[in-house]
Amino acid sequence: MSDFDPAALLDPPAFPADRVAGLADRFARLIGTSGDVLLIQAEAVVALEAVAASLGRPGVKAINIVTSPYGIWFGRWLRRAGANVIEIRAEAARPISARAVAAALDAHPDARLLAVVHAESASGICNPLEAILRLARERDMLTVVDAVASLGGHPLAADAMGADIVVAGPQKALAGPAGISAVAVSQRAWIEIDWPDAPVTSTLSLVDQKRLWLDAGRGALPGTPSPLELWALAAALDRVEAEGIDAIIDRHSEAATAARDGLEALGLTPWASQEEGSHLVTTFAVPADIDIVQLLERLRASDPEFSLGVGAGADRLIRLNHTGRRADPAVVHAMISALTAALRR
Ligand SMILES: *Cc1c(COP(=O)(O)O)cnc(C)c1O
Repeated sequence: MSDFDPAALLDPPAFPADRVAGLADRFARLIGTSGDVLLIQAEAVVALEAVAASLGRPGVKAINIVTSPYGIWFGRWLRRAGANVIEIRAEAARPISARAVAAALDAHPDARLLAVVHAESASGICNPLEAILRLARERDMLTVVDAVASLGGHPLAADAMGADIVVAGPQKALAGPAGISAVAVSQRAWIEIDWPDAPVTSTLSLVDQKRLWLDAGRGALPGTPSPLELWALAAALDRVEAEGIDAIIDRHSEAATAARDGLEALGLTPWASQEEGSHLVTTFAVPADIDIVQLLERLRASDPEFSLGVGAGADRLIRLNHTGRRADPAVVHAMISALTAALRR
């Protein structure tokens, strides 16, 4: 980053209003949807909160799958909006099983909504998304998928898999800016979102986005468009399309395999099995005879991207981050070398 010049970010030209819709369409292709894609000028967690605020209301019963703090927050936002939320929790830092989801859906046949995180950067697991969405669609439920971490790391085909609402961001596997995010909304989902008492005049209102942007012909974004974020998103999408989304997914998958192999060669056990692991980060539990604080300190001296997992159970795992530009054999190799050296001491 030594040649990074913040002054180069000053005085950017306005982003052409007639190119904004194209950004949304390009996002739609990556997500695999022919539905609408909204661009939210905020980090992805705000888009998730907007989805919950726009879907939750008294009388709505939702099944919320919790496999990290993101799921906990989503349930909280739905409840705040008045929804009745049934939470299903996996074992700490583990993926949910399709069987547990089926049991919850059978126990709550009146639930209309299901929410799930696809892959978890917090713990390095990946939920069985296709099986979960199939169960929900068999019951004609509306589905919400947090694909912020997984887009570009795992195959995602929203329409084919039956995901109604997908929240994504360019800042993880797609290696783009963190200040703009995308929400895909199916026609079925609009019926639930656009109702007479839906929240409006709010940063969290998807109905505002529909009326002020979609229905207005998809020109400049409502409010003050941020040229920096829009230009950065355009550049990130250019780079993604030049490489190809499938090649990007393969690169993440290969990075995950290399990280797992490296851990195993050191006698460490990856936290998640190959089938249950995410391609974004790989985690391991530190053996009981090793001081985790000291180990992490040593690792971070060589690469500050080493970190503890986030959330119950995951906070005792060390994460190897191979997301985005870090999904690179050289980066993974360097992390394993750092780990080798740190363990030897
Ligand atoms: C990173 C992440 C988010 C939130 O993204 P921010 O950029 O931090 O707002 C949401 N969900 C998942 C699964 C994530 O990995």
